[in-house]
Amino acid sequence: MPHVVVLTGAGISAESGISTFRDNNGLWASHRLEDVATPEAWERDPEGVLAFYNERRREVRRAQPNAAHEALARLERHNCRVSIVTQNIDDLHERAGSRDVLHLHGDIGKARSSVDPRLLYRLRGEETIEIGHMCDHNYQLRPHVVWFGEQVLLYDTACHIMADADWVLVIGTSLSVMPAAALLDEAPAHVTRMVIDPDAVALARGTDAIPMAGKASEIVPELVEHFIAHRVFEQPARGQ
Ligand code: NAD
Repeated sequence: MPHVVVLTGAGISAESGISTFRDNNGLWASHRLEDVATPEAWERDPEGVLAFYNERRREVRRAQPNAAHEALARLERHNCRVSIVTQNIDDLHERAGSRDVLHLHGDIGKARSSVDPRLLYRLRGEETIEIGHMCDHNYQLRPHVVWFGEQVLLYDTACHIMADADWVLVIGTSLSVMPAAALLDEAPAHVTRMVIDPDAVALARGTDAIPMAGKASEIVPELVEHFIAHRVFEQPARGQ
């Protein structure tokens, strides 16, 4: 069964009302990343960092998956295996119905121990993380997100997924955060790569990826319908 690997970023959730980082009205226009998304910020101002992520979590809970998330979930039912590797910390892929989702940069719906990254806790309903909320080993809880300067613990797993791809779709990511951007090089050289983003032409320049410029909510459903209507994944995959 052909394996479609989808690398997504903040752009796929933009039309669900979740701010991206780098667009004109993105989060970095109103917050300095050094103040909220680094281990140094956590050392200096844990209340400020918790408040920032509590607000991001509220934003995610209010949001709904859009047509792009839903189309990717639909694709799973049509003769292919779909793995989503997302840089997003929201859960809109899962809420749309995608079953194989790897969160490279964490999940805002979880808290983790500030000492042991393996100690994870699902936050329910309107739950927030506040100073004094402790893990089972009595250390302060923090958001389960990877901050700038921290190790991406799931990177090797993501590399293995990429290495097994027959098709790669890149949706709504500026590919400017490492090491996520380097993941594309892990896909076998012969696989078809497509970039779906308003800036797709610039992002694909100098690569062999096919740019599809536009909004994810418009392009992804059209592409998925095309794949299904033309039975693209019923054709033999590599080596067959
Ligand atoms: P980014 O802000 O660097 O880039 C966003 C990309 O999305 C841009 O290329 C932009 O042209 C594109 N875009 C904007 N609107 C779009 C639309 N309607 N359809 C398709 N594409 C659209 O984001 P990034 O590359 O994901 O990387 C930065 C980091 O941002 C990641 O580490 C991620 O954890 C974090 N982040 C996540 C969320 C979220 O979970 N939803 C939100 C903001 C930031």
